[in-house]
Amino acid sequence: MKVKIDYDRCMGDGHCSEVCPEVFDYDDVQTEVHVTSDEVPKELEDKVRKAFEECDTEAIIIEK
Ligand code: SF4
Repeated sequence: MKVKIDYDRCMGDGHCSEVCPEVFDYDDVQTEVHVTSDEVPKELEDKVRKAFEECDTEAIIIEK
């Protein structure tokens, strides 16, 4: 699984980083989220899916 952020949609609330801090790193100075790993580790895929479902602006893009 690979994951990206659509910065045109992201409102920078950092919620994904609360759900899965291992993959979504929140920069509270820039109020911006960065994806930390190119390929999501298998054991974190469920947490990434949860973040995807809970992102209000649908800014998280999951690629298989
Ligand atoms: S949950 Fe969605 S809108 Fe919020 S910071 Fe993450 S990607 Fe951006």
